Amino acid sequence: FHPLIVKARVNTHIKLYQYRKQVEYQSMTDQLTGVANRRRHDRFSAIKWLEASRLQVPFSVCMFDIDKFKLYNDTFGHPAGDQVISAVAKTASSYFQRSMDLFARYGGEEFIAVFVGSDGHNAFEFLKTIRQAVEDLHIPHCSPVSQWVTVSVGGVSLIPKVGDSYDTYLKLADTMLYDAKRLGRNRVVWSY
Ligand code: GH3
Ligand code: MG
Ligand code: MG
Repeated sequence: FHPLIVKARVNTHIKLYQYRKQVEYQSMTDQLTGVANRRRHDRFSAIKWLEASRLQVPFSVCMFDIDKFKLYNDTFGHPAGDQVISAVAKTASSYFQRSMDLFARYGGEEFIAVFVGSDGHNAFEFLKTIRQAVEDLHIPHCSPVSQWVTVSVGGVSLIPKVGDSYDTYLKLADTMLYDAKRLGRNRVVWSY
């Protein structure tokens, strides 16, 4: 062994390892907000869905959408809109820190959260707290909904039945979100 060569090789492998970790992290993280991205959600939800199905525990999934956000961009500009997306992500994601939870940016001004174990009533109450926390940021908006930036949330909690698919639940959450919008926005609609 030549100490210098051994050292050089070890260094090369450390660098390769760090590089791989960095690429892995970047491929799973949303650049703007630093929260998980949609790819990470797709992987995480598939695993948690199977777990919940096998263990027969409640599985919850919900979609968040910032209200009247096009109007926000048109009024305050796109860079200010980006800051709002980051602030909403930071606040909402702080509620999903357990290893069995995931909060991700689903695209644009939409987010998704997946969590296991809470029954429907508790999940609904939990999401109402998060909706309130976003409103309590008191980010000025000029929408007909509120003077502050707000979110609408649609979600579902169910114990997966054998043969059910995750996509069906996702569609149900999306329908609940559509109802939250239709009923006036800045609210949570939950199916359980
Ligand atoms: P609704 O209450 O029905 O959700 O109305 P909305 O205006 O929020 O919905 P719409 O889908 O019409 O508009 C979404 C807007 O989000 C349009 C788009 O410009 C904006 N948006 C999407 N991604 C980004 C982003 O990364 N940054 C910024 N600043 N705006 C974004
Ligand atoms: Mg939207
Ligand atoms: Mg919106």
